[in-house]
Amino acid sequence: MRYIEPHAHMVSRTTDDYVSIVTAGCQAVCEPAFWAGFDRSSSRGFYDYFRQLTQYEPQRAAKFGLAHYTWLCINPKESEDLVLADEVLSIIPEFIDSPNVLGIGEIGLNKNSRNELKVLEKHVNLAAERDQLILVHTPHLEDKLKGTRLIVDLIKSDSRIDPGKVIIDQIALDAGFWAGITLYPESKCTPPRAIDIVENFGHEQIWMNSACDWGVSIPLAVPKTALEMRRRGHTEEFIDQLLYRNPARFMGQCPKFKLPLE
Ligand SMILES: [Zn+2]
Repeated sequence: MRYIEPHAHMVSRTTDDYVSIVTAGCQAVCEPAFWAGFDRSSSRGFYDYFRQLTQYEPQRAAKFGLAHYTWLCINPKESEDLVLADEVLSIIPEFIDSPNVLGIGEIGLNKNSRNELKVLEKHVNLAAERDQLILVHTPHLEDKLKGTRLIVDLIKSDSRIDPGKVIIDQIALDAGFWAGITLYPESKCTPPRAIDIVENFGHEQIWMNSACDWGVSIPLAVPKTALEMRRRGHTEEFIDQLLYRNPARFMGQCPKFKLPLE
């Protein structure tokens, strides 16, 4: 099989993980900027992180014949400090034209605070000004439903943003956004639950991702979902659409996104 991993934090994964996902059929891996597990002490930490995402990590992936793409932002957890956030936002344009940058992400909210909302709005503005794709992810929200509504309302209020160029959690589907389903190893969304969602809510604008990072996570969650789909009798054609062609279609809206197989 072939698939795309649309959301993985490879800077915190081992070389063995690269070998595993390539062996399982991964054709491209996409890495949003995120919280590192600790707060950085200054914008220089982000500068180096963006260098890692745009220069070092693509080379590391290329050693295994894998295409590597990335997204840039300051994550909501570190957005409470508006001075730091502005500094990081001012660095992003320096990296945004790098050949592997697809857009702005993963942005969102953490505690739904005023400052987080201000920084979210600045990211959306940056994406609109530069016609970038947007990736929203809200895994750590204390009030996820309220937060997701705030995010959707903020993005919808900016008429320059095409919802078809935004990927966000699944409840936003009705507004024309794409939906990313994160496959967690336990509790939230296991492969069977993810397939339940697809069977009940449709599959046209959905992708599946592992969101593997430094925490408890499974880099092979996407191909493992294919196993569950086969068990339920879904066709190879449908598996290919959901796990390969759908993410390719979304990210293909950025002209920089190219696949080796096409
Ligand atoms: Zn993430």
